[in-house]
Amino acid sequence: MKAFAMLKIGETGWIEKDRPKCGPMDAIVRPIALAPCTSDVHTVWEGSVGDRHNLILGHEGVGEVVEVGELVKDFKPGDKVIVPAITPDWNSLEAQAGYSMHSGGMLNGWKFSNTKDGVFAEFFNVNDADGNLAHLPEGMDPATATMLSDMVPTGLHGCELANIEYGDKVCVIGIGPVGLMAVRGAYLRGASDLFAVGSRQNCIDIAKEYGATDIINYKNGSILEQVMEKTNGKGVDKVVIAGGDVDTFIEAVTMLKPGGTIGNINYLGDGEFVKIPRAEWGVGMGHKTIAGGLMPGGRLRMEKLADMVMKGRIDPSRLITHRFEGLDKVEEALMLMKDKPRDLIKPVVTIKW
Ligand code: NDP
Ligand code: ZN
Repeated sequence: MKAFAMLKIGETGWIEKDRPKCGPMDAIVRPIALAPCTSDVHTVWEGSVGDRHNLILGHEGVGEVVEVGELVKDFKPGDKVIVPAITPDWNSLEAQAGYSMHSGGMLNGWKFSNTKDGVFAEFFNVNDADGNLAHLPEGMDPATATMLSDMVPTGLHGCELANIEYGDKVCVIGIGPVGLMAVRGAYLRGASDLFAVGSRQNCIDIAKEYGATDIINYKNGSILEQVMEKTNGKGVDKVVIAGGDVDTFIEAVTMLKPGGTIGNINYLGDGEFVKIPRAEWGVGMGHKTIAGGLMPGGRLRMEKLADMVMKGRIDPSRLITHRFEGLDKVEEALMLMKDKPRDLIKPVVTIKW
């Protein structure tokens, strides 16, 4: 089969590979819609998961089941499915402890384009199909549904990590596709003041649509100063970090009230240490919690989030700025994600077989 792969750090290309085998609990899926992710860019051009050779890229997709293992109960060939980016082993001890995303070791619930071939291929394998696949709701556009693979669950998980409650003042740092979904999640969880930090105009427009009350442009000065000014020097209850770097924590911790929580979903690619300011962290006693996490994955979560889309609570189709047709276009879509033109939020490739 034909597939688009990482050849080595900094290099991608089309390769031929054998069609994946189907284990007793697995499904083999043919993609009908695919999306590249900022994480694919980190994988190829920053070597975030280490060097990989001929590893098929991609972890965001919707497809049609073509084969299932003999132990799979709830899916059959012909079913249309949403494929989560994170596909844990649900019988692992880590999953039983509530940390499915770390099944088999830290971050090991993330398998596609990391520890196994990804979804940018004519066929791909999904482990633990009953636990990981989600039925595509009747009438949902497959392109929109690709946003459920990673953007929606990751953004909303940032709000869970930050434990956003009714009336909280919330700052979401970074409003790319992940941060925008965090803005929507914070709105749905009842944020009062909702500060969204970014600079791209199309992201700003959608942040407002999703419920942001104030926009903060980090390019116009310190995020901290702008938040403090808008909150009469009091700061915020919760922060979700979906952009920036290790230095972002200096401002995030400082703007947080005592008892507040930071939910980080941003990938930290550089720097030896995350910077936590000592005095502003209450000299170690400020009850300022910092939680960072990979999204949990799982069929239940995906089907619940899909229901929220069907009921109009979330409209992730607003994230799609570029549309392509045909598997061969995933290369162009990924390059767009790498170059990030200012009008780009997410590209999606749909495929007719
Ligand atoms: P984008 O690059 O599209 O968005 C990043 C956002 O951060 C933009 O709004 C950008 O602003 C803003 N930003 C950049 N630099 C700064 C800064 N110094 N201070 C404040 N804001 C800044 O990324 P995505 O939304 O696609 O992804 C966000 C992160 O989430 C990535 O690191 C990605 O790897 C990670 N991720 C994590 C997952 C998880 O499970 N935890 C899953 C998927 C992704 P501007 O408007 O100027 O562009
Ligand atoms: Zn992704």
